Formats: sequence, structure tokens, C-alpha cells
Amino acid sequence: MKYSIFSLARNALTYHENWTQAWRSPPPRREYDVVIIGGGGHGLAAAYYLARNHGITNVAVLEKGYLGGGNTGRNTTIVRSNYYLEPNAHFYEHSLKLWEGLSADLNYNVMFSQRGVLNLAHSYADLDTYSRRGNAMRLNGIDAELLLRDDVERMVPLLDCSPNARYPVMGGLLQRRGGTARHDAVAWGYARGADMRGVDLIQQCEVTGFTRNGSRIDEIHTTRGTIRAKKIGLAVAGHSGHVAAMAGFRLPIETHVLQALVSEPVKPVLDTVVTSGAVHFYVSQSDKGELVLGGDLDMYNSYGQRSNLPPVEHAVQSLIALFPCFSRLRMLRTWGGVMDMSMDGSPIIGKTPIDNLYVDCGWCYGGFKATPASGWCFAHTLATGEPHALNAAFTLDRYGLGRTIDEKGGGPYPWVH
Ligand SMILES: Cc1cc2nc3c(=O)[nH]c(=O)nc-3n(C[C@H](O)[C@H](O)[C@H](O)COP(=O)(O)OP(=O)(O)OC[C@H]3O[C@@H](n4cnc5c(N)ncnc54)[C@H](O)[C@@H]3O)c2cc1C
Repeated sequence: MKYSIFSLARNALTYHENWTQAWRSPPPRREYDVVIIGGGGHGLAAAYYLARNHGITNVAVLEKGYLGGGNTGRNTTIVRSNYYLEPNAHFYEHSLKLWEGLSADLNYNVMFSQRGVLNLAHSYADLDTYSRRGNAMRLNGIDAELLLRDDVERMVPLLDCSPNARYPVMGGLLQRRGGTARHDAVAWGYARGADMRGVDLIQQCEVTGFTRNGSRIDEIHTTRGTIRAKKIGLAVAGHSGHVAAMAGFRLPIETHVLQALVSEPVKPVLDTVVTSGAVHFYVSQSDKGELVLGGDLDMYNSYGQRSNLPPVEHAVQSLIALFPCFSRLRMLRTWGGVMDMSMDGSPIIGKTPIDNLYVDCGWCYGGFKATPASGWCFAHTLATGEPHALNAAFTLDRYGLGRTIDEKGGGPYPWVH
């Protein structure tokens, strides 16, 4: 069903009791042209673009839990394309352009809000890095503005810009077209769009192993039976290493927990996203009024999607140092997600040592904003067997060939990226 003012009015007559389900829940078939493992934003977007861009609809997405229940439903929803290095700049800018038309394309409101993303500079080294990055962005046709302290103070009046601030503010890099989107809605919008085009979305279906025949996978073993596929796409984020091991190869990915937390809701006080690489902290305000904040990884490997106190303490301390006026806010809830950390901070989308298995992983802290472009490029790669121009550099073999895309190394210290 197309969502519109007319369908809303029609359903109002029956007290909104007769809306059809947004997607079907079919039993898995024995065989598909393409099976995508992982029903997060990336797997769902890839299924959607396989059908929309390439006319390939004999597709299933296998999800061990519920759609969007992984990192897609756990992230802090920041969308931006302020990257320094060429492959990432073009890829994330394509993503941002897709975000700009996504609600209309999916006929589903993903609540994309271009409220701006501001990276704070606390030192001359930060300012120097941000001016270099901003110039690189502008040369790539991406919007970027370098702000000085007074500009930042005018834009974010609650931020402590005083000379005695714990983290003195010297300026910042602003991308006005950046912002936030509603994470669940992105998963649901892609799911609905894929389902409408014939894709089977199979939930509660965990992939538990593979039958190999030489350099191909013959069968996918799942908790809902065995499935065959001509091509298989792996989009399982923090579980990438684990599922790749089942298929018989290793990925250069480490799994780490990343946490986030929200405060109690308050009236609108912050109308942009503020991040600080030096403090390793970011904050925005959700449409419900909660402050959404996060910081660094837990820094030890884990598959536990839980939170613990040290990173929460760090995030809260950072919030109060930067915004002393929030010191009496109460925190409402915290959670964690398992991140697929690549060794150069850039993703992997492409072929694996197994002929009919392709991988989409290595999203580190930032794969939510990549969702549209990742789906677009992964669908192209699965459909044609070759990378799209935008993911041509994101190969798995780049680590062996010395062609890493070291986005982490683009700043005065390793984490300003
Ligand atoms: C706290 C936090 C904050 C973040 N903030 C941001 C942000 O502000 N901006 C940003 O751009 N990014 C952010 N990210 C990163 C972003 O959320 C992820 O990179 C992105 O959502 C990854 O999407 P995905 O579809 O690859 O993974 P997921 O959404 O994790 O989907 C993978 C799916 O695979 C399923 N799966 C795993 N193993 C199996 C199996 N064996 N069989 C079947 N299914 C399986 C999982 O259940 C899961 O649903 C954040 C992440 C976290 C945790």
C-alpha cells in the first residue's frame, strides 16, 4: 500500500484498525538467486536496491533476530559526509545525496533532519586538520565551513566557549547538510520497499554454517532449514568475523562494543550535532527531546551488546565539561552494539576468497550514514560480480596489497577522523 494523505484518511474511517502489515513473513524457500545474511540497514538496503536498480527479486534476507535489531536500531543516527580521503569522500557524499531523497524514494518518512554536524577544534592542530579536511571536502564538491570561536559560540550558545573552559573551543568544521535520521524507520522503510518488490524477509533465522564445494558455497545452514543460493551477501556487522569463520576464511575485523546513552527529555535546546574528536564525544537532541550522547569504544573485544559504566562516565563527564548547563540532567538509559572495526577505519565491500560469497563490513563507528550507499554499491557488486566505481577501493585484498585507506591517520592524533 502506498502511504499518502488519502490512505491516512481512508484508514481513519476504520479507526486505523485495518492497515495492512508493512511486510510479509513468508517461510524460507529452498533456493534463491541471492541470499543476504543480516537484516540490518545494510542488508535490507542491498535487497531493496537489488530489486529496484537491477530487477533481481528472487532474494531473501536472513535475520537471526528481528529486522533492525542490531547496530541499525542501536546507533546515534548521525549522518554526514565530511571525510578527508578520496574513496570515502565520494562514497559518503553519494550516501548523503541518497539520504536527501530517501523518504520520497521509500514512500516512508525516515525523519532525515539536516541540522548540521559541527566538529569542534580545541587546538591549533585541530584547526589545521579541519581546515585541511574542509578544503579537501570542498575540492570534492562537498559542503564544508570552517568556523572560528565566535561563530561556534553564536551557533551553539549553551557550549562553554569561555577562555577557562576545560576544553577551550577555538573553532570548528561545520557540514550544514549533515544531521540525523530515525534509525528504525530506515530499516523499516527499506524492508517495506524490498518486500513490495518481492524480496522475502525471513526473521528468527540464524545462519549456523555452510556446506562448501571447493571454492563455492553450496548450502546455507540455518535454524529454519537449509537454503541454496547462487550468490550470498554477508552484512552482519559485528558478527562478520564469526560468520566468515564458518565459511572458512578470516576477515581483518575486530569486534568491539560501542555504547550510547540518552538523557531524560527536555525542551529543544540543541539544534545541531556537536562532536569533538579530541574529547571523543558527541551529542545531539532527538525529536523526543532526549540528549543522545556517545563516545569511545570499550576497547576490548566482545560480542556482548551491553553497556558498562566507564564509557558512560566518560561521556557524561565530557557532556558536562563542554555544556556545564546540563549538569543536573538525569540519564535515562544506556545500551551497546557490536562494531565491525576495520584496521584502516574504512569499509570492505566486495569479493571474498569464496567465489559466490560477497562481504559488506568494516563500518566501525559510522555505518548508519553509509546505509544507502552501502546498499547501492553492495547490490551492484552482487548483481554484476564487479564493484561499483564507488566501492572499487574498498576491497578485502587491500590489506595484503598495502593499499589501505587510512582515514584514521588523517588527523593530528589517530582518532580525529
Ligand atoms: C552505540 C552506537 C552508536 C552509533 N552511532 C552511529 C552514528 O551516529 N552514525 C553512524 O553513521 N553510525 C553509527 N553507528 C554505527 C552503525 O550503527 C552501524 O555501522 C550500522 O548500523 C551497521 O549496519 P549493518 O546493517 O551493517 O549492521 P546491523 O544493523 O548490526 O545488522 C546486522 C544484522 O545481522 C544479524 N546477524 C548477525 N549474525 C547473524 C547470523 N549468523 N545469521 C543471521 N543474521 C545474523 C544481526 O542480528 C543484525 O541484525 C553506531 C553504532 C553503535 C552501536
